Amino acid sequence: TLSDRLTSVLQNLRGKGRLSEADIDATAREIRVALLEADVALPVVRTFIASIKERAKGSEVSQALNPAQQVVKIVNEELVGILGGETRRLNLAKNPPTVIMLAGLQGAGKTTLAGKLAKWLRGQGHTPMLVACDLQRPNAVTQLQVVGERAGVPVFAPEPGNGVGDPVEVARRGIEEAKRAQHDVVVVDTAGRLGVDEEMMRQAIDIRAAVQPDEVLFVVDAMIGQDAVNTATAFSEGVGFTGVVLTKLDGDARGGAALSVREVTGQPILFASNGEKLEDFDVFHPDRMASRILGMGDMLTLIEQAEQAFDADQAEAAAVKMGSGQLTLEDFLEQMLALRKMGPIANLLGMLPGAGQMKDQLANLDEKHLDRVQAIIRGMTPAERDDPKIINASRRLRIANGSGVRVSDVNDLVNRFFDARKMMSQMAGRFGLPGARPNSR
Ligand code: GDP
Ligand code: MG
Repeated sequence: TLSDRLTSVLQNLRGKGRLSEADIDATAREIRVALLEADVALPVVRTFIASIKERAKGSEVSQALNPAQQVVKIVNEELVGILGGETRRLNLAKNPPTVIMLAGLQGAGKTTLAGKLAKWLRGQGHTPMLVACDLQRPNAVTQLQVVGERAGVPVFAPEPGNGVGDPVEVARRGIEEAKRAQHDVVVVDTAGRLGVDEEMMRQAIDIRAAVQPDEVLFVVDAMIGQDAVNTATAFSEGVGFTGVVLTKLDGDARGGAALSVREVTGQPILFASNGEKLEDFDVFHPDRMASRILGMGDMLTLIEQAEQAFDADQAEAAAVKMGSGQLTLEDFLEQMLALRKMGPIANLLGMLPGAGQMKDQLANLDEKHLDRVQAIIRGMTPAERDDPKIINASRRLRIANGSGVRVSDVNDLVNRFFDARKMMSQMAGRFGLPGARPNSR
């Protein structure tokens, strides 16, 4: 996986003050392969890599992250940026109804999306209506009616035998009906073809001209891979669109189509579909897609946690206290809670510089044990936490009873605390705390 490959390349970057050009090039090569594997189109990959290199060259190594993590962070930030940064919301008309037109190839998931959108819009307090303008496939109208029923919204369809064979006319009448019945959003389903086709595009253009939609959503199957660029370009230059919906993200596609479509057309991705059921639908999250394309969600999570945990000021204050041997049990509890917020202890091991020698000790700190420690400290008075030396035998018994543990557990904690405080003073002298990475300077 990319994670493995990058980790091995980036391992060499550890401990350098600034990223060297050779390092960046080596990293860029791996990322390039990964993007191509995720089906991102080649021209898009080129542009992307160029901007990554540019940015990486100028960047200093951060205090919170090792250089490897930092390069990944840059790549991820750029990806999120290209994918749209913040999620764009649906454009609603000032004068309802809001008209949303769906366009895309056959099988992209338009009709399914119509139902998903309807359900989602209802959940947001809207009163949507669907309009069936796919008169190409025999069952298309029925399919939309089924979907509409499931979503609990009405479907406007041409009556059989009333001579309505014109999708543009159906669209127009549908909007009229929505106004009359006071639906505030109308979703217009349209026909697609297996490939881009002039007649289909003409029809879409005519429907768009007739109903003047507030949004034209280009619906695209995420599994489409390299072909995404051609299809998106054709629709962009043909009917044109204001936003993109990615479907079939439940498949194993890595989602490179998202990056390609976004980059080539400049239009934002609004929604993502990830299954056949109406609930399998959500607004699009650029950050989730970025980590999917990169295929290194775990590493990104660690980076985020490391940054959160590394509040420089707090670390410095704590370090000073530790170094001077003035750490109290109150501080200890605070640090422990901060640490636990980051997740299970085992996950944190990889982030610690020189964790090797501490691994055994930390391995004993299972979660249950931490719960117990927390309970014991909570059972102490402020004075006891501040100066644990005053915790005599009778206080130990009281604390043990109060927090539901044995006296030996309390003894254990207090003794360990004194040991830890002593060890920290010694370490502070050795490494010159404060400072996050002992071997870097
Ligand atoms: P349309 O031709 O663009 O209207 O596409 P449809 O809505 O008819 O969908 C084509 C097929 O893809 C149907 O079998 C849907 O159930 C399926 N489909 C649509 N969206 C998704 C999705 O997000 N995930 C999966 N797995 N299948 C989907
Ligand atoms: Mg359809």
